[in-house]
Amino acid sequence: MAKLQVRKVLVICPHADDEIVGCGGAIIHFSKKKKVEVHVLVCTKESTRSIAKSYAFNPMHRVRESYQAKEIMGYQHLHYFNFPELGFNGRPGNKKKLEVQLNEFIQGLRPDCIFVPNSEEMHPDHRVIGGLMNNIIHEGKKKGQFDFIRYVLIYEVWGPVKMNSYFQISKSAKTKMENGMSCYRSQMASVDYKRIIEFLGNQRRQKFNQFNTHIKGFKKTLIEGYTLIQNDNF
Ligand SMILES: [Zn+2]
Repeated sequence: MAKLQVRKVLVICPHADDEIVGCGGAIIHFSKKKKVEVHVLVCTKESTRSIAKSYAFNPMHRVRESYQAKEIMGYQHLHYFNFPELGFNGRPGNKKKLEVQLNEFIQGLRPDCIFVPNSEEMHPDHRVIGGLMNNIIHEGKKKGQFDFIRYVLIYEVWGPVKMNSYFQISKSAKTKMENGMSCYRSQMASVDYKRIIEFLGNQRRQKFNQFNTHIKGFKKTLIEGYTLIQNDNF
């Protein structure tokens, strides 16, 4: 990945676990740096509408798992909004409220680097939050409110992003991500997310190697991919 000069990173997640599947490698990388603060914001809490149904539903279960995963990943700050999972489509009030809260949160925190979900993915919450973030950043920039943001990176979880930036996941980071993912027992009961991480990482590496055969190190490790948008291109 292009060397990002950052001091405060904000990862915006529709759900607890997206932080690992979508940008676990980057979170581990930045969390190791003494002068970088890493914040994860999870917008929803699991509801009875959730897709994952292979375990007994308990609203606090996944929240507890996310705090365990945070300890393993080694980042500093985990924040929650309380919107219900799958609670935006057909509910414009919730969507508007989320837009206001995201705006206020970003203005209060003043991150210089923001990871956002892909608005073109299949999961409705990823689509809604990715789309809202596009609007918020564009409108905020027009009004001169977001001059502190230097980089926006779009990450993928459920569908491919047109990537222009790559991040190498070291062996030790991969182990940490797997251990972090293991904390989400509720989610792993429905979907093997470790395999998704491995699959996406391998796919990106293979694609990447076709065009960049001179970068030997990338042949062995997994790759995270992002669409990096620099401040001048918002
Ligand atoms: Zn998600």
